[in-house]
Amino acid sequence: MDAVQEEYDVVIVGGGHNGLVAATYLAKTGKSVLLLERQDHIGGATVSAQAFPGVDARLSRYSYLISLLPRQIIADLDLDLELIRRRYSSYTPLPGTTQGLLVDNNDDGITAASFAAIGAGADVDGFSQLYERTGKLARRLWPTMMKPLLRRSEARDLVGDDQLWDDFMERPIGEVIERSVQNDLVRGVVLTDGLISTYARAHEPDLSQNRCFFYHVTGGGTGDWDVPVGGMGALTDALARAADAAAVQMFTGAEVTHVSPDGQVRYELDGKSRSLQAGRVLSNAAPAVLERLLGNGQGTQPSPPSRPEPEGAQAKVNLLLSRLPKLKDPGVAPEAAFGGTFHINELYSQLETAYEQAGTGQIPDPLPAEIYCHSLADPSILSPELRGTGAHTLTVFTLHTPHRLLTEENNERMRSELQAATLASLNTVLAEPIEDCLLRDSDGGLCVETKTTLDLEHTLNMPGGNIFHGPLSWPFVEDDAPLDTAAQRWGVATGHDRILLCGAGSQRGGGVSGLGGYSAAMAVLEDDAAG
Ligand SMILES: Cc1cc2nc3c(=O)[nH]c(=O)nc-3n(C[C@H](O)[C@H](O)[C@H](O)COP(=O)(O)OP(=O)(O)OC[C@H]3O[C@@H](n4cnc5c(N)ncnc54)[C@H](O)[C@@H]3O)c2cc1C
Repeated sequence: MDAVQEEYDVVIVGGGHNGLVAATYLAKTGKSVLLLERQDHIGGATVSAQAFPGVDARLSRYSYLISLLPRQIIADLDLDLELIRRRYSSYTPLPGTTQGLLVDNNDDGITAASFAAIGAGADVDGFSQLYERTGKLARRLWPTMMKPLLRRSEARDLVGDDQLWDDFMERPIGEVIERSVQNDLVRGVVLTDGLISTYARAHEPDLSQNRCFFYHVTGGGTGDWDVPVGGMGALTDALARAADAAAVQMFTGAEVTHVSPDGQVRYELDGKSRSLQAGRVLSNAAPAVLERLLGNGQGTQPSPPSRPEPEGAQAKVNLLLSRLPKLKDPGVAPEAAFGGTFHINELYSQLETAYEQAGTGQIPDPLPAEIYCHSLADPSILSPELRGTGAHTLTVFTLHTPHRLLTEENNERMRSELQAATLASLNTVLAEPIEDCLLRDSDGGLCVETKTTLDLEHTLNMPGGNIFHGPLSWPFVEDDAPLDTAAQRWGVATGHDRILLCGAGSQRGGGVSGLGGYSAAMAVLEDDAAG
């Protein structure tokens, strides 16, 4: 282990993928960079893990698909990362029937026939036009993501289509969905992109569902969600190699306990409290965590712009199966259905009911959930022996299970109730119980693990289990927002010159994008260039 110096140009609080991105860009310019991570490993929410004892499968434990990571970051940092494009966009069973909607990116004919089979033939054109429109939004705005922030009116001019802008950026997304498509299932498929970790309804006046939708349909200028070969851990491994090559000093098991506006950082390592001085402190920890680190009884005003309390709205369930389960729908192969995003009980009307049920303190019944099978696209996460047996992984992400349902006292009970509700929801669309397909680990336990929002708060220090570190922001600022400093122009300001955000909680940082880290690095370099 390298000795810790007393002073660094940059100290990074947290070793998530964004912290690694910021560290590497800055160290490559010759700055001394120290990264402190509280867990015993780096990666934050972008890690692979052998989740089940004795079973050689490396699951993407938290995040699993990549859309928002710009190819420029991969190239700049020379990351050895392979992404696979999925053929199928989604499959959604029609509840109570043996049919479902398959959206095949490679075959418009198959998709149109599937629309017709569920009685939604009239929505084929509306559905594809809606995504042509979001495609235009993506092509105009995605190229701005690695530049200083635009103002709202500049972004609107750049899009150059007032109706498009109003439909997606100014009016609740429920309006454009209801105008574009009529079928309950088709509307639900569209809306789900606005509800990832976002407890909102289609017509929510605060437009949180629109912001979530925006980031889900614009990544890479196409909105495609790709599979990282080797799982999410492959991204962290590649970033760690790049950080190491750039001489970033990294410590795990190092929890930062206090940050002062003058750049002093206190942290615990090996049971000892230590302190050092940084020219700049970049927080990969969530804004709400940084507020606590800055406050900490020292009388310092919380600095990031005041935001609502972060609240996630999902549980994550990882499963390992002996084989893919049989579907109720005989018309679609499980390999196609599980090859894209498999929506369960996500009709537009079911999403509304689920929102209401969660609002009265219940786990929604049936529980809306989306499933994806990583090992279909990328079998490399399974050992050759497991692969040979036909085993597969499934990752389930629930909607409308907001953090307000969880407390320290009920977390254990809720974890098992959420797991049971997830499996029950899945079973409504299967021709056999999913339990019959679950593998057992070497201790005889079923290969299923569930993470609640509170589990994420405990493990990853994500306040409220919010996977974006807080409510998502637009990729532009208001016309009257101050843009005087480099940190403001890059969306990483905290109110203290030396302290910057560098994680998902920065203006454009949510998701696996590296954009929080990139923006913070650019702000530091721009400041230094200005002297
Ligand atoms: C279950 C789940 C599924 C998701 N699925 C996807 C997906 O498929 N695609 C996608 O794009 N996004 C997904 N996301 C969101 C995405 O993973 C996150 O937004 C992103 O990874 C955040 O990266 P980050 O580097 O900013 O922060 P994090 O990954 O949260 O890392 C922050 C790091 O800071 C450390 N830290 C915090 N406080 C301190 C402290 N005081 N001292 C030292 N270290 C500290 C933490 O331990 C952590 O390692 C998902 C997230 C979750 C949880």
